[in-house]
Amino acid sequence: MSSADRTFSIAERATELMRAYSECASPQSYEIWFTYVSGVKPFLNEAVKNALRSGQKLTQEQIGALYDAHLAPNRLGAQAERAGTGMIGEIEEVVSMIDDALGSTTRYGASLRALSDDLEDPQERRGIRDILESLVTATREVAATNRTLEVRLRDSRGEIEGLREALERVRVETLLDPLTGISNRKHFEDMLITATLAARAEGAPLSLVVIDIDHFKHFNDVYGHLTGDQVLRLVSSAMQEQMGGRATLARFGGEEFAMILPGLTREQAFERAETVRQSVESRELLKRSTGESLGRITVSLGVAMLRPDETATSLLDRADNCMYRAKGAGRNRTVTDEADGFGTQLSDAA
Ligand code: GH3
Ligand code: MG
Ligand code: MG
Repeated sequence: MSSADRTFSIAERATELMRAYSECASPQSYEIWFTYVSGVKPFLNEAVKNALRSGQKLTQEQIGALYDAHLAPNRLGAQAERAGTGMIGEIEEVVSMIDDALGSTTRYGASLRALSDDLEDPQERRGIRDILESLVTATREVAATNRTLEVRLRDSRGEIEGLREALERVRVETLLDPLTGISNRKHFEDMLITATLAARAEGAPLSLVVIDIDHFKHFNDVYGHLTGDQVLRLVSSAMQEQMGGRATLARFGGEEFAMILPGLTREQAFERAETVRQSVESRELLKRSTGESLGRITVSLGVAMLRPDETATSLLDRADNCMYRAKGAGRNRTVTDEADGFGTQLSDAA
């Protein structure tokens, strides 16, 4: 089946499912069902199945919620904007409360000044009782304003705290690669720099593994990009099994992955790398829609251990070089930087 035929058959199936399981047709509903059938967003599929568990069709409201959570193209931007706007509104209110309070304090100061002038003026006819009464009234007003201000500030504190958490969630989400759920390039770079500095400060080892899928262009050409994306998720899950401790896993290029392994020596990192390589190689790929076997894929890996005074960029370069050496040596293997340039450690390729 050509790639165009496949997209039409996804579209047909999406329409059937929309008719069977949605209350009405809408562009959002169609997009949800199209994505569902293509299988590229497993979390969306889970959510749709859960929503249908009640036996009822999806309502417009449910469709909207699913769309917002999984598909809205700029949903992170929108969330950040909502949190940001809320924060500004909150701060404006607090500022105006403080202005009011300052106004009443100024008035209070003015009336105190007037009273003390009255007291000093021997011509003043007002009795001391009048003066004290005015003083008490003015003090009560200020105390009431202060109480309101305090309550309002306490509320605002809670509100701002909530908005801060919302912004933090958005920040975390923008650090992750949406396809695989592991760190994206930006986060990877930050984490590599942090890990390098920490390793140097602690005098602890730090190793970096770089992983690249073998002949992936060919795989995409033969089976299509959507199936290729499934392979990216498979590699990511093989890495996640090797996660452990303080490791950071990242997809830092289209089909390039990395594991930052603080505390691990070259030899320990090599073992993790080999486990990932064997795990990927051992899985038979099945086409989701037909169950047809797509064979197996392999990965090539490079391992480098941080040298004293080395920068994060240099470590990445050396791990990358080792990965290219693994490609050059026939792929589906791990090459380390052991005595870089003085001989390398080669795994046994199957
Ligand atoms: P090698 O064994 O030398 O690494 O060969 P290769 O074909 O894997 O390497 P090359 O760099 O020539 O091609 C990388 C391919 O990865 C190109 C593109 O088809 C595919 N690719 C990159 N990003 C994505 C992605 O996000 N999804 C999918 N499905 N494919 C991607
Ligand atoms: Mg590549
Ligand atoms: Mg490749």
